[in-house]
Amino acid sequence: MLNIRIEKTTMPKRIPAKGEPLGFGHIFTDHMFIMNYDEGQGWHDARVVPYQNLSLDPSAMVFHYGQTMFEGLKAYKGADGEVYLFRPDMNAKRANTSNDRLCIPEIPEEDFVQAIKAVVDVDRAWIPEDEGTSLYIRPFVISTEPHLGVAPAKSYLFMVILSPSGAYYESGLAPVGIWIEDEYVRAVRGGIGFAKTGGNYAASLAAQVKAHDDGFAQVLWLDGVERKYIEEVGSMNIFFKISGKVVTPMLNGSILPGITRNSVLTLCKDWGYEVEERKVSVDELIEAAHTGALEEVFGTGTAAVISPVGKLRYMEEVFEIGGGKIGELTQRLYDEITGIQSGKLEDPRGWRQKV
Ligand SMILES: *Cc1c(COP(=O)(O)O)cnc(C)c1O
Repeated sequence: MLNIRIEKTTMPKRIPAKGEPLGFGHIFTDHMFIMNYDEGQGWHDARVVPYQNLSLDPSAMVFHYGQTMFEGLKAYKGADGEVYLFRPDMNAKRANTSNDRLCIPEIPEEDFVQAIKAVVDVDRAWIPEDEGTSLYIRPFVISTEPHLGVAPAKSYLFMVILSPSGAYYESGLAPVGIWIEDEYVRAVRGGIGFAKTGGNYAASLAAQVKAHDDGFAQVLWLDGVERKYIEEVGSMNIFFKISGKVVTPMLNGSILPGITRNSVLTLCKDWGYEVEERKVSVDELIEAAHTGALEEVFGTGTAAVISPVGKLRYMEEVFEIGGGKIGELTQRLYDEITGIQSGKLEDPRGWRQKV
């Protein structure tokens, strides 16, 4: 149990009104959680304080060697007025998987969840209530030791910031175009692909710019060795419905183990679908697109929840999927997961946690 000091702001900001467009990741609430780590002392001084700038030494190691971890989850205001988190224990576990890989000290799982609940509770008035909106939660760690020299740092900050966010798709679920990247790679086995850390995103930018310039929303990565097998999308895992079966690339060390991915696998099994976690080659995918066996494609991630894919581009070819319409399973998964998250539907698996 953390002993969390709470210091409330004396200058509260204006909370966006009902119906006001929020976008994603632009607006931040009045408070943040912060706690320090120092070698010899461990994690200490847990506190919720007014949202404010940080002051760091220019030699702080994070600026030079990128030793960071981040997480992403959401809080929802239920129709019953309660505030819910979706599977925060999974984020706490994954945070430590990332921490271990990056030589960042572990954060006890219960402290991680307690920190989130503490700051969400203080800023609960900021949780938007319009359909599809939520409070995006960004926990993260940075190394702060002022020192040039490659080694694990001796001091860190763990913080949690909050951002009221609009529906990812302002006019409802809409299919996006995906660019299958055949030049750049994101991660290789043995690297940091399975960790949620800034470096993976820095490595992804060049391909993302290329795809955006060509009118595609996101990049679909192939494996870093043969460039033959499907890995995942920019910030989402990827699923295919091929001849009635639900297929997704297996976790192989270079793919981020998404919590939405895990929830989708559970739901599909419970609903009686045949589910396969395995290697999926780009050749198999193109073949399935040609024969019509490729029925649905969707991405899964906290931000968009379920993101229908309507178009795939590989080399010089573009494939339409589902005739521009949203697949039946895609829509059903979106409705089920967002229904559970917002408290509208039953939660038989205990995925929701009250704040
Ligand atoms: C966060 C993330 C995902 C999705 O994970 P969720 O837990 O479902 O939000 C997928 N891929 C990458 C690279 C990510 O960073």
